[in-house]
Amino acid sequence: MDEALPLNPFAPTAPVCFISTHLDDVALSCSHFLAAHPGATVVTVLAGAPPESRADGWNAKTTGEGYAQSALRVRRDEDATALALVHAAPYWLDLWEAEYLVRPRVKGGSGRGVPGISKVSRYALSKVHARLRASSTRSQRPVVDALRRALAEVAPASVVAPVGLYHADHRTVSDACLTVARDSTLDWYLYLDMPYAQNFPRKVTRRLSKLAARFTLEALASVAASGDTKRQVASAYRSQFEPVKQGLAIFEDALSDPERYWRILRHPAPVSSTTRPGQ
Ligand SMILES: [Zn+2]
Repeated sequence: MDEALPLNPFAPTAPVCFISTHLDDVALSCSHFLAAHPGATVVTVLAGAPPESRADGWNAKTTGEGYAQSALRVRRDEDATALALVHAAPYWLDLWEAEYLVRPRVKGGSGRGVPGISKVSRYALSKVHARLRASSTRSQRPVVDALRRALAEVAPASVVAPVGLYHADHRTVSDACLTVARDSTLDWYLYLDMPYAQNFPRKVTRRLSKLAARFTLEALASVAASGDTKRQVASAYRSQFEPVKQGLAIFEDALSDPERYWRILRHPAPVSSTTRPGQ
């Protein structure tokens, strides 16, 4: 019966702040909406790097920069270019993503001989993914504190946070957002992390059920693509586009699939007519 009810539109009150786990997640997940609603701020939480050589990780391999902060500089520049296409403003926090929380396996990496994108093998990337999945030990407190400071500065009316799929970083940032949301007076929403949602659909159901035990989630009407903006935005992340595509079996669908959003209703969540996370 619920399926017959029309869903409310995703219509957050401006100014709107999107929370991106890494430099590209909001672009890949929300560009249909961003393209139609200029003026958003995209806060990327894990946009920092340690001041040292890290020649063996994802960022070094994809950007060709063995010095970690140089690799992140490349990725921030791409983010600025990509978000300009949808008239959104980047805002970068200096927290580190999971690959910088684990020690490099090869000591003394100088950054020389870092392979370029064309030499990034699917095998190497799958090993990187496996390591990142395993590194879920980050403390949530620094993420919560940094988010609170960023939101105080950005001063949005609405915040759109990730559901938090598959990758330990995504779950950490999502959980931190929900902690902030609990005592926030702003309007909070969730977006579906793409392309992880296309590649791991069972994790979507599992994660949404977990979240719905803590909050009432109102499923909103999907946001369809108009034109090919998301592909253009995704392509602007030049160091990431091909490696991400190679590393995930289903990537193309993420560029054209309708985007999914939920409104967080901050009251206890017994199953009700508005709790329909599976839609
Ligand atoms: Zn990510």
